[in-house]
Amino acid sequence: MNDHKHEVHGIMCGHVYKNERPLKLIEHGPEDQWHFMCGASDHDTQEAVDTAIVVCKGCAMTSYLLPRKVQQLPARHIAELNVNTEFWNVREMTAEEVAEYYDD
Ligand SMILES: [Zn+2]
Ligand SMILES: [Zn+2]
Repeated sequence: MNDHKHEVHGIMCGHVYKNERPLKLIEHGPEDQWHFMCGASDHDTQEAVDTAIVVCKGCAMTSYLLPRKVQQLPARHIAELNVNTEFWNVREMTAEEVAEYYDD
């Protein structure tokens, strides 16, 4: 489905954007923030910040052929890809994870 308006945007890490790593982690924050990440924990560097880009959420969902439950991920939820089973696991964010969105 590519009939969305390109209105909702998200952040994609440079690893995924440049095809260096697969897309493995999608977050839908409490206020419609979307994150499309490789899932590694090395995103605190300036380089990672500088190479992350803003993408259209709908286009990202379409181009990575994500299953419906991921495309319709509710707010405050996280979808993580199990690379062994290729199954997307969807879970609710913890209170701590939600709080991170309000940090700064
Ligand atoms: Zn990354
Ligand atoms: Zn779009």
